[in-house]
Formats: sequence, C-alpha cells, structure tokens
Amino acid sequence: MSRFLSPRFERLEAYVPGEQPQEMQYIKLNTNESPYPPSPRVFETMSRDEIERLRLYPDPAGKRLRENVAKLYEVSPKNVFLANGSDEALAFAFLAFCDEEHPAAFPDITYGFYPVYCCLFGAPYIAIPLRDDFSINCEEYYGINKTIVIANPNAPTGRMISRDDIERILQTNPNNVVIIDEAYIDFGGTSVVSLIDHYDNLLVVHTCSKSRSLAGARLSFTFGCEALIADIDRIRYSFNSYNVTRMALAAGEAAVDDEAYYIDMRAKIVKTRDRTAAALQDLGFVMTDSKANFLFAKHPAVSGSELYGKLKAKGILVRHFDKPRISDYLRITIGTDTQMDTLVEALKTILAG
Ligand code: PMP
Repeated sequence: MSRFLSPRFERLEAYVPGEQPQEMQYIKLNTNESPYPPSPRVFETMSRDEIERLRLYPDPAGKRLRENVAKLYEVSPKNVFLANGSDEALAFAFLAFCDEEHPAAFPDITYGFYPVYCCLFGAPYIAIPLRDDFSINCEEYYGINKTIVIANPNAPTGRMISRDDIERILQTNPNNVVIIDEAYIDFGGTSVVSLIDHYDNLLVVHTCSKSRSLAGARLSFTFGCEALIADIDRIRYSFNSYNVTRMALAAGEAAVDDEAYYIDMRAKIVKTRDRTAAALQDLGFVMTDSKANFLFAKHPAVSGSELYGKLKAKGILVRHFDKPRISDYLRITIGTDTQMDTLVEALKTILAG
C-alpha cells in the first residue's frame, strides 16, 4: 500500500479471482467456464471487417444487441442492460441501490464479490446464514427492508430457491430492490426474468460467461423494469459509457442469434454433471443438489485443502474456499466427459493412497 491510497480503502479486501494459469497445462475446472467453444456464428463474426472497425468506439447504448436480447427473452429493449460481465452489472447495482438506509442482505455463503462491493462502496450489509444443508431459509428475507441479493442457483453451493419463494421475497419487500443473480440459471433452473413485468423492485442478472461460452469477452445481460434499468444506466454513463467493447457486442449478437447451439451445449453439460455426480457418490463424496455447471462436494475421509492440492499436483485445477463451513468442500466445474473421467480417476488414486 502506498502512502497515497485514500484511507477509505485501507481496509478494503479485494476479491480474489480463481487462478487463471496462462500456460494452460491444467485441466481447468476452477472458474465455471464452459468447456465448449462459442457458437460457430461467433467465429464468423470475428472477421477482418470487425477488426478494422476497432478503431471506432462501440455503440454506447448497445442498441442492436439489446434488441436481440429483448426478443429472445420476450421483454422490451428498455428492460435490458448490458455490461462488461455480470461483475460490472452487480457493481453498478450495489452502487445504485445500497447505502446506509438500504443495507444489503445476502447469504453468508454466496458469491464472494457481494461483500467486496459493499466495502468498496461503503454500504453496510448483513450476511444471513444458510441452513446446515446450505439451503436458503427464504422466510428470513421476508419483509427485512434491505436490498436483497441472492444468487440463484447459489454459488458455490449450486442450490436453488423456487420462483414462488422469490415472489414472496419480492412481495414482502416492496420498497427494496431484490437482485437475483442468475449466473448459473441455464443449467437446469427456471429463470424469473418474466417476473420483471410484475415487480418493479426486481433486477435479474445474467452472464454470457458460463452458458454462452464467452467468459473472455466479458458480457452480461441484466433485466428489470424500465426505471431500474435507467438507474443503473445512469451509474454506467457516469463511470464508463463504452463499457461493452465492440468485440463483445459482436460476439453477443452472434451468440444470441444461435440459441439452439447453446441449448445443446447446456444439455451436454447437465448430462456430464449428473454422470459425474453419480461417479463421485460412488467414491464416497457427499454433495449438494447442484443445478449449476459445477458440483460442490466433500469427502468424509480427506480434507478439502488436501484434495485440492493433490488434484493440482496431478494437473487438475478445482476451486477450494478456505472459509468457515465450506473449507472441506471443493467446487468442481463441469468440463467435457473426458475431463471428468480424468478427474474421477485422479480422485480414485488419491483416495486409494
Ligand atoms: N455471479 C456469480 C454467482 C458468479 O459465480 C460469477 C462468476 N464468478 C459472477 C456473477 C460473475 O461472472 P462474470 O463477471 O464473468 O459475468
């Protein structure tokens, strides 16, 4: 820390992203990327012409992509907000809707960026404990009069709450924004995007990083009533009006144009997930009922950190959180069938040793 840093950031603990080894010698199952490439249409769109146009700024309103997204999700373009990954969309939402009078509330075990945003923006928050089985006790969110943030499916547990539960939370907190982070919704969950017409306090955040194989492009779609979207747009235009690059807009348009391809890829990932879950169960692993593109698993005989280290030594990278209640668990991204077979074999060897 230099002597110049503003004292308000002295105690800021930055989010630590998963490892991104650049030499790629690992089977990478640690940051929930898709093992499959983007749609062939995305390849086509990365043309010479598109590169030539990089000398020009992108459309700050992302009009064409917003229209295409709106069509796919059956909403109006005014209900769609584009950002540089859902991290950025969430940052704008925390900035817009959390303050002393509207503290944030989210589960104690959830996406690690939420408390970081609160610290960065000086917003107070409460962390509501998950039950022992890592389920969210929805009743604890009824009428709490806070800005509620729920990842659904939750990360890193993969567990979901129902659409009815979300509606009840929305109804009992009519004067507060409820942010539903649906980063992993496409792997078997039911989205609540259609509820934005019924609740003016609902913001739903999607990402192209997982189910659209575009983590490197940094692109997210957020849905809400017109006024909420205008609020976060106000923040965006006060921060970086060109937040979504030309390449990301082009990739996004091509991806949204090929939903059929992604439906296939997601189905493959879900099939691999269920197969892998069964194989891990056979090895004695205990896991949550994950509806995401990862499993959250622990073994009664070996600690999470030991498993993490031994897998890494064998060239397989998974995510381990050295945090209370979950330090014995591994979060394992679903890769290809072959990658998961390698993982299962490696675990077999480790457990036999
Ligand atoms: N929300 C959740 C629950 C996540 O796990 C992630 C991925 N780390 C994100 C948001 C952010 O994803 P991205 O910025 O790549 O859209």
